Amino acid sequence: MTDTRTSLPNPGLDLDLDLDVDVDLDPDPDPDLRREPASNPDQDYADRVVAFIDAHPGLVAAERWEEPATPPVRELIAALGAAGLLRDAWPDKGRVGRSPLCLALGRAIQLHTAFARAGNGAPGAAVLTHLEVGTRLLAHHPAHLDGLLDGTTTISLAATEPDGGSDLAGLSTTVRRVDGRLTVSGQKWFISNAPFADLLLVLADDPEQATGPRSGPALLLVAVAGGGVRVESLAGSGHTGLTGSIVLDDAPVLEVLAPAGQGLLTLMRHWIHERVMLSVRMTEIAAAVLDDAVAGARRRRTFGAPLLTNQHVRFLLAELSAEVSEVRSAALQGVRLLVEGSCTAAYAAMCKYRASVLLRRVADESLQLAGADGYRTGHPAERALRDGLGLALAGGTDELMLMQIGRG
Ligand SMILES: Cc1cc2nc3c(=O)[nH]c(=O)nc-3n(C[C@H](O)[C@H](O)[C@H](O)COP(=O)(O)OP(=O)(O)OC[C@H]3O[C@@H](n4cnc5c(N)ncnc54)[C@H](O)[C@@H]3O)c2cc1C
Repeated sequence: MTDTRTSLPNPGLDLDLDLDVDVDLDPDPDPDLRREPASNPDQDYADRVVAFIDAHPGLVAAERWEEPATPPVRELIAALGAAGLLRDAWPDKGRVGRSPLCLALGRAIQLHTAFARAGNGAPGAAVLTHLEVGTRLLAHHPAHLDGLLDGTTTISLAATEPDGGSDLAGLSTTVRRVDGRLTVSGQKWFISNAPFADLLLVLADDPEQATGPRSGPALLLVAVAGGGVRVESLAGSGHTGLTGSIVLDDAPVLEVLAPAGQGLLTLMRHWIHERVMLSVRMTEIAAAVLDDAVAGARRRRTFGAPLLTNQHVRFLLAELSAEVSEVRSAALQGVRLLVEGSCTAAYAAMCKYRASVLLRRVADESLQLAGADGYRTGHPAERALRDGLGLALAGGTDELMLMQIGRG
């Protein structure tokens, strides 16, 4: 497993109040000792992501991700692809030595961790959807993979319909064969990155067994520009501008990724990966919001003293810090299990459920601690609370996670 400890924040908070005392513990360090140890490819990757974020302030500015019409999803993915940051977080089968999957997932953790702290965490939603959902589902399709990793093509997974997202066995979107051509018709909604997608992975019922001899949903690839596809942006309280509704009207099927009866199974296997990576992202957003809350409580004075001098406030922040560490450990264990190929659906559901509850609790408490400033649109806690509500639904709801945990 890639050692991610060097790039992840240390657990625990600095609740020390003696801020004015500038103590130089090591006034004359040996310059050689300050240098990084031997070159570490994982640290290099983490540094590249941080440098990328610093170099693209316009792409990650929180305000741009608050405007429904303008989240720069395509530009961000194109720039990440051009910088090689998507490809380098992808298993390189030609690599000798360390496990390619281990190296790739270690880097993916670094990517999602850094993006959790950029633009109030909002741009990271688009990055995770692109890399860990659509691209992951096309991992074995070299014809499409290159464009996705180069950032020249974008993709969404369209499973949820207005009539239901938890029970995907009863879909109204259907695939049929007409005059020898497969086409798909129906409606999907709340599909992440859909307003910016070139490709759609569409889950559709196959009542006439047009894609295979079994019954049950098939997973299809559809090109947005191939005709019969209309996408509109959806308004939601969080994930501003990032989700869309899709109308498919005899849209030509580019490829059958999983035939009738196999579509849902393919997704169920995929969701193990998606839920673990979502839990990494949610935990790191919670950590970023908590750091901001500590800084705010140190700055804010009430009744003649910093808010942080109240024992209740210090206990609350310490408790939240302990919870972040606990949930982060569980998420990283999930990534280790993904590398070993032994992560169960129940374990992934535990990670996702705990991280979703944590994110909302940290955001809610941090908003309260910040007072009216925290209620301001665009405050880190306020944005995280809105996005956290969406993340309790996306990728499987909290209730569905509990059902999965119960099933084992
Ligand atoms: C920000 C965001 C991004 C999303 N991105 C995508 C995407 O990229 N692709 C995609 O396909 N979908 C996406 N979704 C949709 C998401 O997957 C669904 O909202 C989710 O699966 C729930 O489906 P639903 O909204 O239809 O609720 P329903 O399935 O109608 O459920 C309604 C409520 O009932 C609960 N419930 C359902 N069944 C049970 C039960 N048996 N016992 C107890 N409680 C139950 C659910 O947990 C939920 O709280 C996204 C949603 C959001 C908010």
